[in-house]
This record gives sequence, C-alpha cells and structure tokens, in this order.
Amino acid sequence: NKISEDDIRKSVADNDVRFLRLMFTDINGTLKAVEVPNSQLEKVLENDIRFDGSSIDGFVRLEESDMVLYPDFSTWSVLPWTDSRGGKIGSLICSVHTTDGQPFTGDPRNNLKRILNEMKEMGFSAFDIGFEAEFHLLKLDSNGNWTTEVPDHASYFDLTSNDESASCRRDIVETLESIGFEVEAAHHEVGVGQQEIDFKFDDALTTADRVQMFKMIVREIAKKHGLYATFMAKPLQGEAGNGMHTNMSLFRDNKNAFYDNNNKFHLSNTALYFLNGILEHARAITAVGNPTVNSYKRLIPGYEAPVYISWASKNRSPMVRVPSAEEINTRLEMRSADPTANPYLLLAACLSAGLSGIKAEKMPMDPVDCNLFELSQQQRDELGIKPLPSTLHNALKAFKDDQLIQAALGEHLTQSFISSKELEWSQYTQTVSDWERNRYMGY
Ligand code: GLU
Ligand code: MG
Ligand code: MG
Repeated sequence: NKISEDDIRKSVADNDVRFLRLMFTDINGTLKAVEVPNSQLEKVLENDIRFDGSSIDGFVRLEESDMVLYPDFSTWSVLPWTDSRGGKIGSLICSVHTTDGQPFTGDPRNNLKRILNEMKEMGFSAFDIGFEAEFHLLKLDSNGNWTTEVPDHASYFDLTSNDESASCRRDIVETLESIGFEVEAAHHEVGVGQQEIDFKFDDALTTADRVQMFKMIVREIAKKHGLYATFMAKPLQGEAGNGMHTNMSLFRDNKNAFYDNNNKFHLSNTALYFLNGILEHARAITAVGNPTVNSYKRLIPGYEAPVYISWASKNRSPMVRVPSAEEINTRLEMRSADPTANPYLLLAACLSAGLSGIKAEKMPMDPVDCNLFELSQQQRDELGIKPLPSTLHNALKAFKDDQLIQAALGEHLTQSFISSKELEWSQYTQTVSDWERNRYMGY
C-alpha cells in the first residue's frame, strides 16, 4: 500500500483535514505526537518538522536535542473524529532523524528497521507478526477518573449484548475498520471487564505501527463511552491479566519459511532454530516484553499466563505455543509479552534472538505438552525447564547479562532502557504499600 505525497494532499483536501498529527514512540512505548495545522502540510511532506528531543523519555542527548520528523507516508490515516470546529485530524507515524538527516539511533522504530535489514541480509523477505493485545474496560468515577469497577461481569466469549462494554467493543472494531484495519476477532476475555480485539497479521514494522494506533483508538473510543481502557498487565488482583501474544513467522520469497509438511508440528528447521534462539534469550526478552513492575504480577500460575521457559503444541502454560494452522499461518506464538511492551523494541529483541538461533542451527528442547503447573520442581528440573524472571529486577539482571539482546536494541536504547527501568524499580522498592502496613503494623 504505497501512498504518495499527492495522495496525502488529496486526502487532506477531500476530508477537510485541518490538523496533522505526527507521531513517534518513546522508550517506554508511549506514543508521542506533535500536531500542526494543515498550513504546514508541505513542511510535513518535506521532512521539515522539528522538535526538541531533550524532554522525550529515552531521547535525552543534550548536545544535539533538535530532532526532525520523517513521516512514513504509508501510515497515513484520517482519524475518525473531528476537532471542535468539525475538521478532521490526519495522522502519520514518523521516524526520528537528527538535524543532519541521519536516523536517530534512540528511536525504537529506526532500530527495528535496522534489525529487519539484518534479516534481509540473511535472505528472508519478511518477519510477519500478529499481536493479540488484551485490555480492560473500567468504569469512571464522578470526576472522570478511572476506578477498579468493571462495566460487565462476563467471561470468555460471553455474549453480553446489552452492556456498555459490548457496545464499546463494537464501536472500537468499526473505528479500526474505518481506518483500514482488518479486524479478525473481537470478544470478551476471561476476566471481568477484559476484552480482546485481534487484527490481521502483517510485516513487523506495519504491525508495530498498528498496535500503537490500536491502543490510541481503544483509549479514545472507551472515553467516548464513558469508560477507561487500560493495557496494564495486571490491573485487577485475582483476575486474569492482559497479555500481548506475539505470533511470529519468517518469510522467504513470499513463502512461509516456518512451514514444513514433513515435521510432526509442521515446523521447518528454520522455525525450530528460531524457537531455540527465543528460548535461549527468553529471560532478557522478558525485560523488554514485560517492562513494568506490574508485568510480573501477571506471570504467575492460574491465569493462562506463562511462568516457564518451554514450548508446546497445544498446552497454553509454556512461554511459546505452536498453534495449529494452515501453511501460510504457521507460526510461533510467544505468550509471555504484555501490552505495556514497546512493540518496536520487543520485535527487535525477538527477531535478533530468532536469527541468532538460525545461525547457530541448534534444535530446541523437546516440547512439553502437559500443564507445567502440575509438574513438581524435580520433574521440571529433569526436563530442563527454567522459570521466567519473577520480577522486573531479575529480568533487568538477565538483560544486562545478555549481549545479543542489548545489541538488538543498540547502545543508545540499551542505556536509556536500563536507566529508565532501574529508576522505576528503585521507586518501587522504596514504596511502602498498604499491603505492608496491613501485614506489619501490628508487629
Ligand atoms: N489473559 C491471558 C494472559 O495473561 C491470555 C488468555 C488467552 O489465552 O488469550 O496471557
Ligand atoms: Mg486472549
Ligand atoms: Mg493467543
């Protein structure tokens, strides 16, 4: 879907677009935006919109804080809501460049492109990704702030046609379709108030861009329905958390390189080597895919979230599952990541780990097709099954020990990531919580 400068000019005129929203993503995965009036359209198209990068998390580089936005025309969308005077807002996802025109290495999107080029040099044409980002819809209080009350008490695949969450979900789906998403499934998830909307897989960069748009749309439409949407990993204690299952496959000459009819799981050696790369770097990948203190409150037994580093063809308790699929859809489903992950960093880490596995040509451990939570520690030890990191702190330690995953992020992003996450962890460890007061005040 090539979109030219002229297509954008025409779309601006045809749709009465009055503002142009130029977006990029910071180290924490937060979408940032500069909005300019349509009088600036030519400057936008000529990569001439500048901003001060020194206040963006993870960008800080005081000597050269001026940054330039290079919009990716193929991401052009006319947002389906209007400004207060009735005009439309057009949006573009941008790469961040330095003032001398070079891609800024602290931009997660540029970094993913760098790893995708390494993949192409190895002879693959695409890294295809399907994300399944779960979220909760919550009620607002009278001040318009979020509460922990849910608008529905439904569960997995429940039909709750009359409640506000079902109507909000439909509105989200229609909004997504109106800006070109192909929505494949939308349903209530296991937890109260928990939802899932899946859109069709596509190449890694497109899908990372789309998941950022997806989160923005979900939040905005929820607000319209008087609800609050959260992608926090474990918003409600004792309920299912929000995962972002990451379905991955590599393509070579438009053929799925993960498919092989002769293998029991229909997986090629390429897929098995890739899988081994993921498993070997699983602990460091977890830091990137589960980057918040709260992420680790989801990775516990009992809620369909993984705890152990292993794989299986059917069972949903291990980190990686091989869903049954047609040739084109043959894929590895990594179940550990959650939607607080920066999608560009997550995919760079997974792809690098997988490619290193392909280079090493080592077979993964045997699949374990049983409920891992029912095995004893000794049985898991005998099968060589290790746990995922149990806290952000442990995941960061693994990240700091893993040269390959650090190289997948590059030096600038690695440093920003470590300092941002160490600060988060130290703030957390200094926090005295209600749980502690309730538990220890009587001591
Ligand atoms: N909500 C579960 C998780 O935390 C996943 C449920 C599912 O299999 O879709 O990963
Ligand atoms: Mg799900
Ligand atoms: Mg899934």
